Amino acid sequence: MSIVTRFPPSPTGSLHVGGARTALFNWLYAKKTGGKMVLRIEDTDRERSTQEAVDIILNGMQWLGMDWDEGPHYQTQRFDRYAQLTQQLLEQGDAYYCNCSKERLEALREGQMAAGEKPRYDHKCRDLNLPSDTPGAVVRFKNPLDGAVSFSDLVRGDVTVSNAELDDLVIARADGTPTYNLTVVIDDMDMGISHVLRGDDHINNTPRQINLLQALGATPPIYAHVPMILGSDGKRLSKRHGAVSVLDYDKMGILPHALLNYLVRLGWSHGDQEVFSLQEMIDLFDISDVNRAPSTFNQEKLLWLNQHYIKEADPSELAEDIAGRIEAKGVSLVNGPDVIDTVKMLQERAQTLEDMAQQAVYLYADEIEYDPAAAKKHLRAVAKEPMQHVLSEFEALDEWQTEVIDAALKRILAQFDLKLPKLALPLRVAVAGMAATPSIDLTLQMVGKTKTLARVREAIAYIDERAAAAQDR
Ligand code: GLU
Repeated sequence: MSIVTRFPPSPTGSLHVGGARTALFNWLYAKKTGGKMVLRIEDTDRERSTQEAVDIILNGMQWLGMDWDEGPHYQTQRFDRYAQLTQQLLEQGDAYYCNCSKERLEALREGQMAAGEKPRYDHKCRDLNLPSDTPGAVVRFKNPLDGAVSFSDLVRGDVTVSNAELDDLVIARADGTPTYNLTVVIDDMDMGISHVLRGDDHINNTPRQINLLQALGATPPIYAHVPMILGSDGKRLSKRHGAVSVLDYDKMGILPHALLNYLVRLGWSHGDQEVFSLQEMIDLFDISDVNRAPSTFNQEKLLWLNQHYIKEADPSELAEDIAGRIEAKGVSLVNGPDVIDTVKMLQERAQTLEDMAQQAVYLYADEIEYDPAAAKKHLRAVAKEPMQHVLSEFEALDEWQTEVIDAALKRILAQFDLKLPKLALPLRVAVAGMAATPSIDLTLQMVGKTKTLARVREAIAYIDERAAAAQDR
């Protein structure tokens, strides 16, 4: 059997984490088995579907590197096909027109609820043979009355639902537009889908879809319903829990591979392995190993993986991204080090690319701002004299590399009988505005001699101003 999976998002919002994980599982399974994945845009809800949302989905998939093998198909381009098969179902006697009013259906529903019954259509029009020109008529599927639908879910195991539980669902609205269960079924059939891997919020649709497929003479695909993703509070993951869209993670500076690695472990595991190359994901993933219990989204773990992949990355691969992020902060790259060197310097210290760019701004900016707490703590009168010696030592240097910078600093430390932090911390605040930077010699080398001298002078002036202000009080 050739394996065909699908990812069928509705373009009504962003590509969120849950959707991306569903896509990933489908993609991995297709890749693993040498099959293919179909991308299908379920845009029949014309009021809520937007081109912007389609673009976000396509860009998100591309960013994650999940290349689809077929599509995107758009359901709105297949209305003729849906109408054709609706007609076929009507002619076969597997569907019928129903003109029950909204009011009637509502009253029916209320009565059933009051009697403690499951609300369901009462089959009033099922055998009336209403003609196609009945005003305001919808088309309903004639769900079998007896027996049961069974399927063997690759995650859930055997599932059986009695037909008495299932409604005669509406497959075409009064305006002729098809409904979700019909379009999905026809597409899964026409696109030769062999495996439907989707969120378990759809599991109630599955028996209905199987009945429809059978009425259309198609063999149902194999189903696998993946448990949902929960937020840290045990509730279904949503915007309330913070970033949930793939684009947000891109903005934050999460690497696509880190997100994929994180997503693959949400609901799937391979022993206690946490870090997976793409090839390992493809080789090791199997639907039968998907957990039956919901998984919990853990941002800390995502950040941990991201940091891991940032550390492992070839600096030249991150440089372009980091350059763009620094420039996006309104800073020009002209007066600063090669961005590749910046990445090398900060690679071990950043959880996200955004974080890295933020840590790099002082290397390029014309002016820096002091972190108030750091300035208060480290730019104090005691630092003035050592800083003045730093100036004269540095001015005399012909070269500007870590070794010579380091030697100059050591001379000052000896002269003032200081421990390194007493000098390095004020210097860091002076050149970077903050007390936490990589080793002081490397920091200074990267800032460059001219900027270092200017910033040390400014720091001395700042110390003087502070002392003057204190005297005034
Ligand atoms: N378009 C549906 C959704 O986004 C997916 C339906 C399915 O997987 O069958 O929820």
